[in-house]
Amino acid sequence: MAVRDFSQLTIARWLEGLARGAWRASELVEYYLKQIEKINPGLNAYLEVFDDALTAAEAIDRRLASGEPLRALEGVPIAVKDNILIKGRRASAGSKMLENYTAAYDATVIAKLRAAGAVFLGRTNMDEFAMGASTENSAFGPTKNPHDPERVAGGSSGGSAAALAAGLALAALGSDTGGSVRQPAAFCGVLGLKPTYGAVSRFGLIALAPSFDQIGPLARTADDVERIFEVIKGRDENDSTSLSEKVRPLISKVSRSNLEKFKKFKLGVPRRFLDQGLNRAGAENFSVATASLAAAGYEIMDIDLPTAPYALAAYYVIMPAEASSNLARYDGIRYGSYFPGQDLFDDYRTTRGNGFGLEVRRRVILGTYALSAGYYDAYYAKAFAVKQAIASEFAAAFNQVDAILTPTTPAPAFKLGERLADPVQMYLEDLFTVPANLAGLPAISIPSGRAASGLPFGLQIMAPPGGEGRLFQIAKHYANL
Ligand code: GLN
Repeated sequence: MAVRDFSQLTIARWLEGLARGAWRASELVEYYLKQIEKINPGLNAYLEVFDDALTAAEAIDRRLASGEPLRALEGVPIAVKDNILIKGRRASAGSKMLENYTAAYDATVIAKLRAAGAVFLGRTNMDEFAMGASTENSAFGPTKNPHDPERVAGGSSGGSAAALAAGLALAALGSDTGGSVRQPAAFCGVLGLKPTYGAVSRFGLIALAPSFDQIGPLARTADDVERIFEVIKGRDENDSTSLSEKVRPLISKVSRSNLEKFKKFKLGVPRRFLDQGLNRAGAENFSVATASLAAAGYEIMDIDLPTAPYALAAYYVIMPAEASSNLARYDGIRYGSYFPGQDLFDDYRTTRGNGFGLEVRRRVILGTYALSAGYYDAYYAKAFAVKQAIASEFAAAFNQVDAILTPTTPAPAFKLGERLADPVQMYLEDLFTVPANLAGLPAISIPSGRAASGLPFGLQIMAPPGGEGRLFQIAKHYANL
């Protein structure tokens, strides 16, 4: 029998074929395993492929053969970022510190996906502890961009985005603290959603900065992203910051047939903020995107977010502050790999010096400094005030417009090694993505044309808290323009 080509598959088409008996779950997993074997060595998207993926798919085939009804993600093979716990599996967060850590329980998102019939293909590469925008900070080597192997896949969820773009999974999970789902999605030409803060449980996600962290889906169509989001969202007793759907009235099941109704969405463009960070190609690409939305009937208007230019600075105070206290537990004695020294103090020093890479150590030092007595008011308290100001500016803007558009990144994927020597250049990547994390807003990156070099551009859409449904509507419509 000829090997089927599943490269253009969507979840809807997969489920429909499964229901008809056109194919089996094990067939799709076998297909991806073969593709991974062929393509992954050149990309380093997966750190590990799970040896039980096929067994899990075979169990699904038996289940369906016995007449069980189809679940929401029956047999959908998913790639999982290396900082999301799967019981009995390694979860290293891209770090030597957790190289040998095996998860003792399933993250809530994993338990939900499992119950919906999803199959986990493997764990994907990432910047160490999700700190970075290129996956070059991984202790296990960088991930390459499938569109150009000399370029980065973005980060920190670079492995998940590259796996999808290279056709090595049907969907993937990432985590987004300051852009780590959206930015790699943009660089690799796929979609990535950062949900409303609290919409998805963080239980079982290795923390970077808990007041910003959200797990989010990556996929190749808006419908696929929505299907995963519908399964993983919801209040979780194990995460006190997860929200009940009752307090998020905007979230609604999107009807797939009435896109026309939404043509009249008002879309805001924070023009002055964009002017500060965009290069010419990026600006041109963005104006083509807004023009095509305008032609489709959307009203586009300029808005002002005067504090948005300070979002990046505030983020790079709050995030390291939270990270430094989270990472304190990895001392080789209570948690993490142990590198012995001469005495107790030296134990700490060698363990944290060897177990953590350069960027993690940099942020621990920055964060500890920002939180220390005498500097707390000067840095952390100020950054926190900026965060509040940004949240209220967005709230005011959403009285005028239904959603806000920006490019996802200032420019397409950069070359491997290009920004490693200058951390500030790397941080500037996050200019347009961090405001949504500071304000707790849902934001999606969708593919939006290509540069002359052939590299993908991403368009970011942000909505008020609970407005994921709006993002899916616009994203579906945009893909059909
Ligand atoms: N690039 C950002 C950072 O380095 C985003 C990280 C993230 O979202 N996990 O902090």
